[in-house]
Amino acid sequence: MSTTVPTLTTPSLFREQAYLNGAWASASNGATIPVENPATREVIGHVPNLDDATVQSAITAAHAAFPAWSKTLPRERSNLMRKWHSLMLKHAEDLATLLTLEQGKPLSESRTEIAYAASFIEWFAEEGPRIAGEIPTSTKPGQRMLVLRQSVGVAAAITPWNFPSAMVTRKIAPAIAAGCPVLLKPAELTPFSALALAALAEEAGIPKGVFSVLTGDSARIGPAFTGDARIRKLSFTGSTRVGKLLASASADNLKRLSLELGGNAPFIVFNDANLEDAANALMACKFRNAGQTCVCANRVLVEDGVYDKFLSVFAPKVAALKLGSGLEAGVTIGPLITKLAQEKVNRLTSDAEKKGAKRETSASPSAPDLPGYFCAPAIYTDADAKMDMFHEEIFGPIAPLTRFKGEEEAVKLANATPYGLASYVFTNDHKRIWRVAEGLEYGMVGVNEGYVSNPVAPFGGVKESGYGREGSIHGIDEYLEYKYVCLGGIA
Ligand code: NAP
Repeated sequence: MSTTVPTLTTPSLFREQAYLNGAWASASNGATIPVENPATREVIGHVPNLDDATVQSAITAAHAAFPAWSKTLPRERSNLMRKWHSLMLKHAEDLATLLTLEQGKPLSESRTEIAYAASFIEWFAEEGPRIAGEIPTSTKPGQRMLVLRQSVGVAAAITPWNFPSAMVTRKIAPAIAAGCPVLLKPAELTPFSALALAALAEEAGIPKGVFSVLTGDSARIGPAFTGDARIRKLSFTGSTRVGKLLASASADNLKRLSLELGGNAPFIVFNDANLEDAANALMACKFRNAGQTCVCANRVLVEDGVYDKFLSVFAPKVAALKLGSGLEAGVTIGPLITKLAQEKVNRLTSDAEKKGAKRETSASPSAPDLPGYFCAPAIYTDADAKMDMFHEEIFGPIAPLTRFKGEEEAVKLANATPYGLASYVFTNDHKRIWRVAEGLEYGMVGVNEGYVSNPVAPFGGVKESGYGREGSIHGIDEYLEYKYVCLGGIA
């Protein structure tokens, strides 16, 4: 297997060791896991496949760090996080290069992700010092009441490969700001972005044990997290399947959970929409990260009266996408993450074709000419609810168009899924905007907007897309407890 070593301005950001209790560590038996560049299938490097004893010692160290970190003044925690944020911005180009190498997305998208990831550290550095309790007025004489906000305890985070930097900071920043040491297990496919963040945390002076990155087998680290009562909180972003497994495994010690799971976003275009705006928004919403985002438009629902017109506006934009390595200038769409991901997209498109969907050809280069896990972007027309892609996350650059008649049918089709993460609606009727936004069973609704992620807004889903919110003024609540103190005998 051939190897590419990342070329960085600051080579020390590329770490092939785990970061445990403030030190760089290997597995005690020396076991490692190779990490591949999905655009070339070359190995970028290796990370430790940590053994049970090393995982246990990391948990013990985080537990030992809790008393001091939770008592550190929020302003002091904030100052360290601000340094960390500045370091992320200073090294943004290296962080983006690493991200593209291990994940595949175009460098321009990686730069955007690094800025977005850094914004969570900045935001929660600001929110930490604003943690405040309450003083309710008692209904009984002689009593005084206080409600304290206290750190929940040691937190664990498990993150996916599709946003290797932003999904990490969205969890660890509120945890650290709230006084919780955090143990992170990044996806096996994309650990280097998380390790680079740890290198910068170390440089910023985040104390040992407060932030650790554990690399290795999720089948070993997952149960170590869920089964350990010293870990009081688990925040997970990933598939609904694994989210359910973790919820069930956490039931024994009733660990607090945040679950950011899969989606099946509808993108609704009404007859009165501005079609050019809707098509531009759909390009970003559908094809960003080669269609591998939880908030990607998965089903494009277009009203009968503009269906053909919309296709004629949208199709040339898809044809203009340029497939290739994310490091190459001008590339707008990178590879899928693995062969398995390629096979899943092929299964869903074959099923749709068998059931009557038509592939609209595009001028994009064909995927087989490229060495990585590429998948040519395409539009499928005449898609409907009989097809598997209507019900499953495609997680690839495929846009299926489904025809509908009227507002009632649009909302019914949109809600015909167990998922409820992001949804999008394009219309210029202000009354309909209210009705449809209220009727959609989703945690997030973009109205005439295809990009809703923002650190100041609560990100999260309903139904089988999980529970809990990240970002916004509410994100820090996931790492805080309420403690009620009642004082009696005060005449
Ligand atoms: P995944 O297979 O569920 O993996 C996510 C993380 O869970 C990875 O770190 C993985 O580790 C780990 N994991 C896998 N099996 C585990 C187990 N039995 N116990 C403990 N941890 C385990 O999901 P993915 O394919 O990486 O990510 C794509 C999914 O994430 C999609 O469904 C997408 O919609 C969802 N997502 C949701 C959001 C959101 O905010 N709602 C954001 C981004 C992505 P290994 O990779 O090391 O096995």
